[in-house]
Amino acid sequence: MLPFPDCFENVMFSDILENDLYIKEVYQAMGSDDLSEPIIVIINLMKNGIYPTPFKNKNEDLSNEYRNEGNSAYKNKKYQKALICYNKALAYAPNMSRAMKLAYSNRSALLINFRHYKACLNDISTCMTMGCPDDILEKLMKRRETAQRALWLENIQKKYNSYAEDFFKIPKRHPDVPCASSQIDITMDSKFPKIVAKTDIKVGTVLALEKAFVVSPCPFDDAGSNYTTCSYCLKMSLNLFPCEGCTLALFCSKQCNELCLKEYHNTECHVAGFVKNRPDIQIPLRAAIKVRNMCKSWDELVALSNRYNSKKVKSSINEIFNSNNPSSLLTFNYDVNFLHGMLFNATLIWSFCIIIINNSECFFPQSGDDKAKAIRAFARILIYLTIFSPPTYMILPESDTFDEITKFSKHPSFGLFPFIGKLKHSCIPNTRAAALNNTMALVALQPIKAGTELTITPVFHWLDCPQTKQDRQNRMLWFYRTVCSCVVCEASPHDWALMRQNSQLSVTQRRKHKMIFSNESPENFFEPNKTAGIYKKICECLELLNDVPFSKEYADMYRYFRKCLLYLQDYKSQNIVLDDSIDVYM
Ligand SMILES: [Zn+2]
Ligand SMILES: [Zn+2]
Ligand SMILES: [Zn+2]
Repeated sequence: MLPFPDCFENVMFSDILENDLYIKEVYQAMGSDDLSEPIIVIINLMKNGIYPTPFKNKNEDLSNEYRNEGNSAYKNKKYQKALICYNKALAYAPNMSRAMKLAYSNRSALLINFRHYKACLNDISTCMTMGCPDDILEKLMKRRETAQRALWLENIQKKYNSYAEDFFKIPKRHPDVPCASSQIDITMDSKFPKIVAKTDIKVGTVLALEKAFVVSPCPFDDAGSNYTTCSYCLKMSLNLFPCEGCTLALFCSKQCNELCLKEYHNTECHVAGFVKNRPDIQIPLRAAIKVRNMCKSWDELVALSNRYNSKKVKSSINEIFNSNNPSSLLTFNYDVNFLHGMLFNATLIWSFCIIIINNSECFFPQSGDDKAKAIRAFARILIYLTIFSPPTYMILPESDTFDEITKFSKHPSFGLFPFIGKLKHSCIPNTRAAALNNTMALVALQPIKAGTELTITPVFHWLDCPQTKQDRQNRMLWFYRTVCSCVVCEASPHDWALMRQNSQLSVTQRRKHKMIFSNESPENFFEPNKTAGIYKKICECLELLNDVPFSKEYADMYRYFRKCLLYLQDYKSQNIVLDDSIDVYM
């Protein structure tokens, strides 16, 4: 569990791992009630060592290499890959360097061929503003002229869909939990509050819109998602620009850049190599820094960390669910199996992370006593988040504006959600989360009677993709530190066949089901004037078939629902990718 980051290269660990006495001391500390104790022990053991900062610096040669790689990808018609390579070239290029200007220039060439004229002009103007190198000036001015003329000529009417525009809106909000609809209620009669329906809720209703406390872009490097999405809002923009300080972060706008720096990146930037491709490290680190920045002082953070230190405390609804309150990050109630292996590795990772941050002298207080207290509080919050607060999967919608193909991104990102992340788990959930970049929408998937608890699946809906029992259990254990023994998780192929057989529509259901879509295909939702009507019909159908969830008819309708919702997500998110199957107009 929790493997070490690549950048460690075992250099830092050997001192600890090869010394039995040290190991013994760390293990002893792990028995302490205070989860930060082992981290402090390691930091003290390592006091006199000198450790390299695993922070990859800007490097013009590397930037040139990535750009060349992009050029050959382009020649081989691997366009999305070319885009990623140019973005990498930007991330590694020293600010205002020749390599940076060339990377912008090459990306503009890629974009003009995809008829993304506006994005192309943005890149050209960025390059010009930096001072375009003489040897490409003429070429670039020509390209600018072509793009301007093409943009002027381009008379493609963007189809305006007022229903899609307004779909993800909540008319009335819950008084204590602003991200949630007033149609939900929170009851306090059990040990931990329950999120329930306040009124009867119809299938398809939007129940919450929650912006992630922090996100982490897709971790898989070959997908290059770190280099296709904004590091702050996860938008897939064609005009990403790099962070000036590190080779990790790209941003879609000045606003995202500023918010990211203000909330956590000012500190994260110093340990970029450490969190790269590691959402399991990036999420707790970003969250802990943000919690610190939300507190007025280190004293406030110390008090907060003491309050939630591994013991359950009584908290208000606002403290638990409102992400504007830093306590919401520290009040999770998972069925967590305490995993010692995980605690040990996490302890080592956070010790070194704290040592590196401390070396950068940009975060912790400088005076001795305050510093020690601050480090312990920060360690406590990091370890708490690692163990008790698993991130949520976010599958983003993406589209290619050429063919208007909308699909789920193959590469999931992750986010931390103080409200949606605390919904009760069920493998036959009555809600579904839909990602809108760094915001999650919660949509009712079943009719929910007033007073019923809202549930969500931590893995995938059983109709979303075929998963073996082993897959499901692995994911559950990895992300939620628990296993599940419900019918969906435990059913053998034989059981599934039986469940399908027993899930038959009644005569009335069959008749009504036929009537709902008598003269229209549920596929037509993307036509602007039909979306509203068809979405309503699909939801009506799901409601009708709610007691036969394993029937073929339900499965079909579920797929239409998912597709329609994805279209609405895509309309809102505007994530553009370059499709490799398209021939470029040279
Ligand atoms: Zn952004
Ligand atoms: Zn940075
Ligand atoms: Zn289950």
